[in-house]
Amino acid sequence: MKISITDILSGRVRIVWRRRRRKAAVTPETERLRKEAKAYLPVRLKELAEAGGFSYNSVRIKNNVSNWGSCSSKGNINLNLNLMRLPKELQDYVMLHELCHLRYMNHGPEFHAMLEKLCPNHRELRKKLREYRLT
Ligand SMILES: [Zn+2]
Repeated sequence: MKISITDILSGRVRIVWRRRRRKAAVTPETERLRKEAKAYLPVRLKELAEAGGFSYNSVRIKNNVSNWGSCSSKGNINLNLNLMRLPKELQDYVMLHELCHLRYMNHGPEFHAMLEKLCPNHRELRKKLREYRLT
């Protein structure tokens, strides 16, 4: 279909903008956290991965408000720079959670069994994590 400017102006065609991905605002504080996160999180992730026998493809530091971390089926791990605001045990918990997704791309019983082995108090940590907000 060919769309002309007249179609748009007349309202015959409506343009729907794709919603922007939810990114947090950039402030001096977030830039400070980003620096810290880039220096620390990939090093720590590597340690945890080696200890648990995981191998991932890449790690990126993100500033979004939708998750603390994510893992793609291609083995790319994203970590939120706001992890730097959390106690170390919660940082490790989030990273171990994402590492387990390298094996299981869901939150099924096998995923939880693996996480349980690596992080026996993961249920307690999950609760604690809810006390911190990303927004
Ligand atoms: Zn998950």
